[in-house]
Amino acid sequence: MRIALLAGIALVAIGWIALAFFLERFVNRVEGAPLPEVSARAVELHHSSAVVDLHADSLLFGRDLTHRARVGHADLPRLREGGVWLQVFGVATSTPAGMNIDRNEAPGFDMMALLFCNRLAAGCLGGPPARFAAHADRLEQLTASDPKLVWVRSANDLAQLRAARKRDPQMLGALLAIEGAHALGDGPDALDRAFARGVRMVGLAHFFDNEYAGSAHGVAKGGLTDLGRRTFARMEELGIAADLAHLSPAAIDELLAIATRPVVVSHGGVKGTCPNARTLSDAHLRGIARTGGVVGIGYWKEAVCGTAPRDVARAIRYAVDLIGDEHVALGSDYDGGTTVSFDTSQLAVLTQAMLDEGVADASVRRVLGENALRVLAATLPSE
Ligand SMILES: [Zn+2]
Repeated sequence: MRIALLAGIALVAIGWIALAFFLERFVNRVEGAPLPEVSARAVELHHSSAVVDLHADSLLFGRDLTHRARVGHADLPRLREGGVWLQVFGVATSTPAGMNIDRNEAPGFDMMALLFCNRLAAGCLGGPPARFAAHADRLEQLTASDPKLVWVRSANDLAQLRAARKRDPQMLGALLAIEGAHALGDGPDALDRAFARGVRMVGLAHFFDNEYAGSAHGVAKGGLTDLGRRTFARMEELGIAADLAHLSPAAIDELLAIATRPVVVSHGGVKGTCPNARTLSDAHLRGIARTGGVVGIGYWKEAVCGTAPRDVARAIRYAVDLIGDEHVALGSDYDGGTTVSFDTSQLAVLTQAMLDEGVADASVRRVLGENALRVLAATLPSE
């Protein structure tokens, strides 16, 4: 009896340790299928363009991002290899077990608790605000350990990044974003505290309806609450970009009606090539363009109904044709529990796919990064 008990405990312990080591291998996969050849013209166009990715969750899994890993999708060496100038790092702090894109209750059992507690990380027990603080600490350590990684907090930082990047292609910017305002914590100054910590993009809801807004994947899928409306108004005052990526259609409608600055969809797709609860209608695409904003197209199945570079490029082409080449951008969702066909070091394959889809060179440049830089420069505080 005692031996059985000890064996059981040992098995659980081995499973727990194995989970820490192997989890990312299963949840952030790169398919091994051969990728299309990238022409010299595409390589030249890609590496002479500003490249911005509006969403990756790479801070989440605890991997040392200063080293090139064989798992996951992005780290500093691979971002540089892929010619990325600016990476927006998303902070997801609470996800329901059995997470899906159609309907989720607020988490009873929180998968993020499992993820943080499994590697004994800070934020294991403190809930979403503690997990947000742990993410911000990680970005701080990362920027401290790499002198060529710059934490972008202002339009001036962006201008300096562009100037520095001209001199040194190793220069890389990082911007901190929150997925789900439940990470902000309580109190009337919760958003101001996050701003002081360096957050410059916030999505009010993530995978479930919260006290700020309805989620596209929630139960009621309602609009903005009073708190959501007040928070959004304060975001505009402070210079925090509004991310509509996971909002319910009703919340997007309400937000577009009151937005006075460009908004972003940091990672998503379009119903025109991939109709589901995760993607944007033509009307919402037009509404986002009317604010002067951008839609970041993702590289995974629920965003573009495929994972091939051409699937991503088709969604980009659709959006460019519908709302113009000034309103489309990249939003990988790398390391966000996604399976993709190319990691960030191989990003030029997407430039090739855009050219193959008939997107003009000047439009490719805008999609790769100029649009995202324009919107962030217009949104972030000047200093
Ligand atoms: Zn997301």
